[in-house]
Amino acid sequence: MLYFNACPKCKKGTIEYSEDSAGKYISCLMCGFNKNSQSSTKISKKTKIS
Ligand SMILES: [Zn+2]
Repeated sequence: MLYFNACPKCKKGTIEYSEDSAGKYISCLMCGFNKNSQSSTKISKKTKIS
């Protein structure tokens, strides 16, 4: 599901609402903003690869 101009960060971005086994989340196709709509799942945000 897509929400146009709904990004809270860049204001103009298209928000994609998705749902998978990990839960529901939104992400901005324009600026890369993303947010889990429910934060019950532990997420390793960024895996450091060095
Ligand atoms: Zn955005």
